[in-house]
Amino acid sequence: MAAAPVLDLEAEPSVDVILVGSSELSSPASLGWGRDLIAYEVRVNQRSIEDICLCCGSFQVHTQHPLFEGGMCAPCKDKFLDTLFLYDDDGYQSYCSICCSGETLLICENPDCTRCYCFECVDNLVSPGTSEKVHAMSNWVCFLCLPFSRSGLLQRRHKWRARLKAFCDRESESPLEMYQTVPVWKREPVRVLSLFGDIKRELTSLGFLEDGAGPGGPKYLDDVTDVVRRDVEEWGPFDLLYGATPPLGHTCCHPPGWYLFQFCRLLQYARPPPGSPRPFFWMFVDNLVLTQEDVAAATRFLEMEPVTIQDVCGRALQDATRVWSNIPAVRSSKHSGPVSEEELSLLAQDRQRARLPPRTPAQLVKNCFLPLREYFKYFSAELTSSL
Ligand SMILES: [Zn+2]
Ligand SMILES: [Zn+2]
Ligand SMILES: [Zn+2]
Repeated sequence: MAAAPVLDLEAEPSVDVILVGSSELSSPASLGWGRDLIAYEVRVNQRSIEDICLCCGSFQVHTQHPLFEGGMCAPCKDKFLDTLFLYDDDGYQSYCSICCSGETLLICENPDCTRCYCFECVDNLVSPGTSEKVHAMSNWVCFLCLPFSRSGLLQRRHKWRARLKAFCDRESESPLEMYQTVPVWKREPVRVLSLFGDIKRELTSLGFLEDGAGPGGPKYLDDVTDVVRRDVEEWGPFDLLYGATPPLGHTCCHPPGWYLFQFCRLLQYARPPPGSPRPFFWMFVDNLVLTQEDVAAATRFLEMEPVTIQDVCGRALQDATRVWSNIPAVRSSKHSGPVSEEELSLLAQDRQRARLPPRTPAQLVKNCFLPLREYFKYFSAELTSSL
């Protein structure tokens, strides 16, 4: 276990660089970056940490930081909501769990945790020099995973998962309600129902499924014409429903709208009753074959606008899909972006002409599944690939 970072009283900022009786107006904080003053304000000026933005040091507190004791200003709150579920390709979160910056990050080595922390937060809030010590450690676990809840000024909030959910529900402008994230010891393997496109390979490579999983692997259906509610209830319960239109050029016996209609029908059956706290996620991917009317119908049925997930090589759009999903952060995913309808229809025509080997839409949207790590059991991807 990692050594406990302790409060280092010797390391307080020297007082002579601080204006005595500093206030919002006279403190250097008002000139810019004021985070190095947080420790001074709390220890010397006896200001409550709840009255200071933990992310930037501002005194214009709008709300409380959901994970650690401390305040949060309005701009930092927006940044926090935007980056909360953003992941890098390596499966770790892209930004610091305290301040949402993406500077040099320390990574939690608990295999079930995906969190990162920036050097500045650790040095300012735990004690100066801590980041170097953590950096040199081979097995560091983070402030949310450590058995004790306090490290210097950093005090983990009691019931932070419930607070995080309440924070998102209260502060977010999105009509989507967030499910409370699940503690590691309660996480179970994700139960998947996959329609018209199999996502087993993608989920296995991300570490969500055990390689060679026999029964208990994802249920995959290609033709669902005769499937009724009772069938889905018998096979389930499911945690993730995935559906996609077939790749372009793929010969199929149904019009594109059929896939959307069937997905919506099975979504009704697979979904837990309204108000259930059980996390349930769904994703529908259109491989650019739906007509404009179909897209409008999907937006109505699924109660949200689609997001375009794109594969850009240099500045050229290589590939794209439209995605509707309630998985957190699909909207702010690094690979999503505004693409005009003209560009999309050109791309679809190009693809048809080029007769490229059909690429499954699942490959494009793969990283959108990463936020599910906060809810379901994770089998190490490295471990499974070496078996
Ligand atoms: Zn702030
Ligand atoms: Zn930070
Ligand atoms: Zn951790």
